[in-house]
Amino acid sequence: MTLDREERQALRTRLEWLRLLGVADLPAGRAGAASRREPPPERPASARPEAPARPVVQAGLFGGSVEAMSPLMSVAAPETPDPATALRLIREEIGDCTRCGLCSKRTNIVFGVGNPNARLMFIGEGPGADEDLKGEPFVGRAGQLLTKIIESMGLNRPDVYIANVVKCRPPENRTPLPDEIATCSPFLFKQVQAIRPRVIVCLGTPAAQLVLGTPDTITRLRGSFHDLDGIRVMPTFHPAYLLRNPAAKREVWDDMKKVMAELRADG
Ligand code: URA
Repeated sequence: MTLDREERQALRTRLEWLRLLGVADLPAGRAGAASRREPPPERPASARPEAPARPVVQAGLFGGSVEAMSPLMSVAAPETPDPATALRLIREEIGDCTRCGLCSKRTNIVFGVGNPNARLMFIGEGPGADEDLKGEPFVGRAGQLLTKIIESMGLNRPDVYIANVVKCRPPENRTPLPDEIATCSPFLFKQVQAIRPRVIVCLGTPAAQLVLGTPDTITRLRGSFHDLDGIRVMPTFHPAYLLRNPAAKREVWDDMKKVMAELRADG
């Protein structure tokens, strides 16, 4: 495969971005991840492997040294757990996190919720007050609107996976700061690697900028598919924005129709 100058530059920019975030050592996803996997049977606690005791970013999710420089490159993980197990290990790795200042005011870490085998994943910005109290993403007013969007797509919340750029509530619901995003987002990328959805919908500018490694805003990015290591990424407006600007629901619906068509085309 030959890449032209622009493509090489785009690739370099993205690699730099991923390195900056400390996710340059993620193992790539499993082959054939676009095909649907049945949820594995739950294993008894005694049969579960221990979480790897190692630094967060310096080692691969699945333990051992990882040769790849970026999630864009293929690497054979020594032992690839099923998505549910992988997610559990990531949650264990996060632990009772104090890696950034957001820990001081949080009630609960909001890890993510949904089907570990989901073909569709939504990524928001960060928990609000309701999510902080419940420990689950998108359960407040914006969350109820997201649930309606999901249901309008002919799906139910448990069919998809929902997570955020940061896992603890930013005070006064402010936008997460760059250092908070840099600290927390490796876990989000690990969740993406574990699930390998066919499509990711980025809700709002911070999620889209992080996932796509671009400074562009949602208005520029939304409406067409982008790529993250073979995963189709559709940025769209955040449901909280829709609560303030109901007229923009039309654009979001246009975006979701494209997502539905992509999921249909993929079987
Ligand atoms: N807004 C987000 O971005 N995430 C949530 O979980 C809730 C509101």
